[in-house]
Amino acid sequence: MTDENLPRVTREQIVDSLKKIGIHRGDILALHSSLKSLGYVEGGAETVIHAFQEALGFAGALLMPTHTYSFPIWSKPPYDKNESPSLVGNITEVFRRMPNVLRSDHPTHSVAAWGRFAADLTRDALQYPPTGIGSPWHRFHEAGGTILMLGTNQNACTMLHYCEAAADVPYLDVTFTPGVDYEVAHRINERGEVEEYILKQVPGCSRGFHKSEPCLRENGALEDVKIVNSQSQLLDSRKMVKAMKEKLKSDPFFLLCDFPDCGICVRRRNCAV
Ligand SMILES: [Zn+2]
Repeated sequence: MTDENLPRVTREQIVDSLKKIGIHRGDILALHSSLKSLGYVEGGAETVIHAFQEALGFAGALLMPTHTYSFPIWSKPPYDKNESPSLVGNITEVFRRMPNVLRSDHPTHSVAAWGRFAADLTRDALQYPPTGIGSPWHRFHEAGGTILMLGTNQNACTMLHYCEAAADVPYLDVTFTPGVDYEVAHRINERGEVEEYILKQVPGCSRGFHKSEPCLRENGALEDVKIVNSQSQLLDSRKMVKAMKEKLKSDPFFLLCDFPDCGICVRRRNCAV
């Protein structure tokens, strides 16, 4: 089936759906998204973003990950805030290039934001772990943000990495590279030079994150919603962090995946740097 044969979706339908699930002007919303889950959107990603901007207004805020994973060992080029494409979906890549959208300096886990809190959510990214305490996700949580997983599930939810840090799970220092507690990323600095950036508390594997869904539903943190044709999840970040901190206190390895060949999760379970 080509895109043109999918159900047609308009900006108005998306705005209506957002109102129906309780998104209001002034809200702070983080969006993880699958564009194709909506059907065929006239105008593509830009239409979707305009719908969210209309629903939230500039008094609200829209936050998206624009990760580039600029690790030299993964053969990724140095992160250039203005040029490096987002690797986490078409909507995020279009969003970061739109007017009045700011992007953070982080070479692996950058975010882009629009609206009232855009400057606050994107500032000082190099001073903090990418998704931990002090990160944009921490600030988003403190501001009482709502998360929408548009056609995706918790495996794509960056806030669960923040939950790992907030719960101080014992494996935060275990990275992809055995034997060290850091990774090396690289970026183009303000003078146009390539520089290395040392990364601590590297966000690891998220293939087990979907296991959080029943717990989040039980705690009233996750609601299953529909945005036009897209089966989606709506989350209250404060309830989510509270529920996950509790869960991770009794079962610190709960969010790790169960794939026996997953290098990092196996080592994280043993907490072997
Ligand atoms: Zn894993």
